[in-house]
Amino acid sequence: MTRKERIGVFGGTFNPIHTGHVRAAAEVRARFSLDRVLFVPSFIPPHKETAEIASPGDRMAMVKLALRRFRRLVPSPIEIEAGGTSYSIITLGKIRRLYPGARIFFILGADAFREIETWREWRRVLERCLFIVTTRPGSRLAVARAALPPEYRRGVFEVTPATRIREELLSSQRIFLTPISAVDVSSTEIRSRVRRGAPIRGLVPAPVARYIAERGLYRTRTS
Ligand code: ATP
Repeated sequence: MTRKERIGVFGGTFNPIHTGHVRAAAEVRARFSLDRVLFVPSFIPPHKETAEIASPGDRMAMVKLALRRFRRLVPSPIEIEAGGTSYSIITLGKIRRLYPGARIFFILGADAFREIETWREWRRVLERCLFIVTTRPGSRLAVARAALPPEYRRGVFEVTPATRIREELLSSQRIFLTPISAVDVSSTEIRSRVRRGAPIRGLVPAPVARYIAERGLYRTRTS
């Protein structure tokens, strides 16, 4: 079977991007031999912007800084440039046009995956791409599996670091559950630490920490 290009899509608010995001994507990329992983920060309408939510420009800039050292982890402004509410079904269509013939893998944490039924046209999204669902501290694979719509639950394939990801496997399975080594950090925690004046060293890549300090992001909560 000829190998198709493999493109991962890792969406999020990235408010801000942190070490957990980067580690998770790097691990998944290696495990599934993805040619690249696109980091896609979501657009957030300006009226929702507060001191809690950095502007699209700042969030994008931090993603770029965090990924500078990683050739195969690539910042994508696709949703930020589109403006308006981001819908995965639309984003996927655009990525498909950018990478014709590639297999597209949607990468997301089990916590995010649990909400899939709230996505616009979620059944079509599930049918049109592959899913890599990762653990994060506090969300176990069994829980993620149980949260799936029943008709998809049986089709979930568990991938360990030892699993060989062959073309045949990718042709026959659509949803992959895989554990990643946990980095117990969230953007919420980063924002709260910055507000309290606590250090964030090690929780975000160093250039991101500098950017947050220089731009005075997340210091206050009021809008
Ligand atoms: P917040 O705390 O503001 O909710 P977050 O840290 O969950 O933010 P998002 O931008 O909402 O970050 O997450 C984007 C994606 O990254 C989601 O699929 C989420 O499950 C995953 N993710 C977030 N933190 C981690 C982590 N520490 N390890 C692995 N995956 C993570």
